[in-house]
Amino acid sequence: MSSIAELLASRSSLAAVSDTPGLDVELLLAHSLEQNRTYLKTWPEREVSAAQQQQFQTLLQRRQAGEPIAHLLGSRGFWTLDLQVNPSTLIPRPETELLVEIALEKLAAKPNALVLDLGTGTGAIALAIASENSLWQVLGCDLQREAVALAERNGRLNKINNAKFLQSDWFTDIPKQQFDLIVSNPPYIDANDPHLSEGDVRFEPRSALVAGKQGLADIEHISVQAPAYLKPGAWLLFEHGYEQAEAVRALLKAHGYVAVATLKDIAGMDRVTLGQYAAA
Ligand code: GLN
Repeated sequence: MSSIAELLASRSSLAAVSDTPGLDVELLLAHSLEQNRTYLKTWPEREVSAAQQQQFQTLLQRRQAGEPIAHLLGSRGFWTLDLQVNPSTLIPRPETELLVEIALEKLAAKPNALVLDLGTGTGAIALAIASENSLWQVLGCDLQREAVALAERNGRLNKINNAKFLQSDWFTDIPKQQFDLIVSNPPYIDANDPHLSEGDVRFEPRSALVAGKQGLADIEHISVQAPAYLKPGAWLLFEHGYEQAEAVRALLKAHGYVAVATLKDIAGMDRVTLGQYAAA
């Protein structure tokens, strides 16, 4: 039998794969014990049962092999929500909360906004926006059926009733209606980017990460199609790579959007670009 303190010492075995080995070990042990991290700090001398220790060792080995913490725990916090995650979608990232913040700013004065989230994955962006105002109607779509099921489950688990999800290849199956705001965190990484062979992204679906034209193909496709689905004066918001801001701004301007601007994420990187659809 080992104590909690002894098991936490295995953090050193994660140093090579994680920037946060201490945190990772605490999360995996707390998960195995069905407790929170405070419990671990409070009872370091407690013995861990053989079954729980076995479960912890299995998770630790999977983490050593590079699997993302979010996949091992099965969930990830985003905005104020606890979201289930699985390998069928991208794991929600903290920097993506910037998209939610800007969307809320643009929707602030609208009592009954209609919002579309393209490529919703876990439903993170759609659910975060929907959670802020029960009078807004949010539609999230994803090409992957598993993602749609996961987003629907996350809506139920977080008791959010004003977000709906459907399977669609970008706009293909979106009902013809005009939205107050369209938001997307589309795939935007170039297929040859070395980032794809490092860390968590190795365990995430390529379809959620990689796009043609130096990562800009889906952003361009959405920008071209979106006007048919935007009310005059409505906003289109994208997350993109930190080196893509200028290209995304040029693209939006070329397709007739106005008030085009880029904002930086919590790490100070260019991360979100938006434009307003000007009525013809
Ligand atoms: N920001 C993610 C990453 O670099 C990619 C997200 C995306 O392609 N939409 O890992």
